[in-house]
Amino acid sequence: MQEELLHSVVKLTRTRDVDSLESSLLSTIHEFIGCQEVSIYKSVSSKDAMYVECCLSLEVIDGKRYRWTQSEKIKSPSSELLSCLHSACIIAIQSNDGIEKRWIPITLTDKPIGAISIVSKGLGSSEQVLLNAFCCIYENYLTILHENERDKLTGLLNRQTFDKKLKQLIEKQVIKHYKATKLNQDREQHKETISWLAMMDIDHFKQVNDNYGHVCGDEVLLILSQLMDGFFRATDLLFRFGGEEFVLVFEPATREEIESLLNKFMELVRSTKFPFVNKLTVSIGVAKVGPYDFPIHVLENADKALYFAKENGRDQLCFYDQMAPSDKPLRDDDGGIDLF
Ligand code: GH3
Ligand code: MG
Ligand code: MG
Repeated sequence: MQEELLHSVVKLTRTRDVDSLESSLLSTIHEFIGCQEVSIYKSVSSKDAMYVECCLSLEVIDGKRYRWTQSEKIKSPSSELLSCLHSACIIAIQSNDGIEKRWIPITLTDKPIGAISIVSKGLGSSEQVLLNAFCCIYENYLTILHENERDKLTGLLNRQTFDKKLKQLIEKQVIKHYKATKLNQDREQHKETISWLAMMDIDHFKQVNDNYGHVCGDEVLLILSQLMDGFFRATDLLFRFGGEEFVLVFEPATREEIESLLNKFMELVRSTKFPFVNKLTVSIGVAKVGPYDFPIHVLENADKALYFAKENGRDQLCFYDQMAPSDKPLRDDDGGIDLF
C-alpha cells in the first residue's frame, strides 16, 4: 500500500500541465478511495461573467466502467458547492441512503478558486486523511505550474506557454469543426465564429523609459496588464510576449465583435491616467486562427498587421485579412522576404 501510494505521488508530480495533473489526481483519488464520482470545479469570474465550471469529472458507471466529462458550465451549482467556494472550508453531507457528498476547497495564492467533490458511501478517517493529502499535493503542484506559466511582473501568461495554449485552442477548434461538418451545419455560420489572435504593442514606449525611467516603465506595463485582465473575458488568453508586447487569443467570435471589443479597449487605454505619462496608446494587429493553421503563421500574420498599424500612424487596429496584398510581405516559405 505504502509503495503504491508513493508511486501515485510520483505519477501525480510527473505531469507538466494542469490538465494532465487534474486527470491524474482524479484517477489517483478513485484508485485509493472508494467513490462513485470525483470532480474538479473552478469558479470563473471576470467583468462579464461569474460562473462555476466542472473542469473534469470521473464517474463510475456500473462498478467497472468509467465516464470522463470535461469542461461543463454548471447552470445551477449546489448550495454546498457555493459555500465551499466562498468559505474555503470542507463541507460534507450525508443522505438517508448513506451516500456522502464532500467538497474540499482548492486555494491558489490564498484565494479559493475551486473545489474537489467526491461522492461515496462514506469515508473512514484514514480515507479522509488520504483524500486531504492528495488535495494538498495537487494544490501545491498547481501553484508551481501556475507560477511557471506566468510572467513575473504582470502575472499574465508568459511566452513559453504560448505554443501549448494555442495548440490546445486549435485542437478544440478542429474537434468542433469536425462535429459541425458531421452535423452538416451551415459552413458560413461556422466561418463567422472563428478564433482571433491580436498582437498589441505600446506606442513609443521607449520614450516612457527614456523620460521617466525604467521603474515608471514597469509601472505602466503593470497598469496596462491590469486593465487587460479586468477588461477581457476570463476565457480569453492574455500573454505578455516580450517587453511591451502582448498577445491576446480570443474564443470564437465574429470580426465585428472583435473589432468593437478592441476599439473599446484602445479607448480605455487612451482615457486611462498612467503615472507621469500624459497619454498612452497602443497599436494592434489581428489575425484569424483557423482550425488547421500553424501557430507560427498566425503570429506572423498578426505581426504584419501590427507593423502596418505602426507604419500608418500608430494608435490603430489592423486586421491582416483586410490588408491589400501589396501590404503583406511574403513569408520565407512563400519564396519571398522574411520579416524575422
Ligand atoms: P513603437 O511605437 O514603434 O513600438 O516604439 P517603441 O518605442 O515602443 O518601440 P521599441 O521597440 O523601439 O522600444 C521598446 C522599448 O521597451 C525598449 C525597452 O527599453 C522597453 N522595454 C522592454 N522591456 C521592458 C521592461 O520589462 N520594462 C521596461 N520598463 N521597459 C521595457
Ligand atoms: Mg512599442
Ligand atoms: Mg515593441
